[in-house]
Amino acid sequence: MKVGVLAVQGAFIEHENILNKLGISTIELRKKSDLDMDFDRLILPGGESTVQGKLLGDLDMFNGLKERIMSGMPVLATCAGLILLAENIVNDSRSWFKTLPVSVVRNAYGRQLGSFHYDGIMEGIGIFPMEFIRAPYIESVADGVEILAHVDDKITAVKYKKQLGLSFHPELSDNYNIHKMFLEM
Ligand code: GLN
Repeated sequence: MKVGVLAVQGAFIEHENILNKLGISTIELRKKSDLDMDFDRLILPGGESTVQGKLLGDLDMFNGLKERIMSGMPVLATCAGLILLAENIVNDSRSWFKTLPVSVVRNAYGRQLGSFHYDGIMEGIGIFPMEFIRAPYIESVADGVEILAHVDDKITAVKYKKQLGLSFHPELSDNYNIHKMFLEM
């Protein structure tokens, strides 16, 4: 198994480190020709979704990645990655891959709550240390989307087909259970 990690911007190295510790090899996807390498899973890391979305267009990587997601390649998308997958972004006129039928709100916890830690329950895992950084939350989901975690009344993790979308950063904790869940998908 080989995991392709989108590496144009944001917190991709942290994901690679966890996967490597789990004995899984990774490749960095930085340019269009990298998409021709052999990989069977995809990570879309946190960072800044507008920058990542623009770079994917400028680098002509957008369609190649979208095709792989639509044809069922398992994806783990964290924070900005979740925003890139979302069908609808409530407070932004742009949207990107639109393969995950959810509505998200960007920077949804306001400035003061820009970063916080929450020990929440993740369905299928139990208590998980969730790190939020200028995080989005999921406002609504379509039929068929499984809700895996909440903070108060806000949805913070979902699964739809082979797409796992999180508004927090599992790569910033030393609990690898979400990465293991992704590898088993
Ligand atoms: N606020 C960022 C965005 O809108 C997401 C933050 C993150 O990935 N930690 O893209």
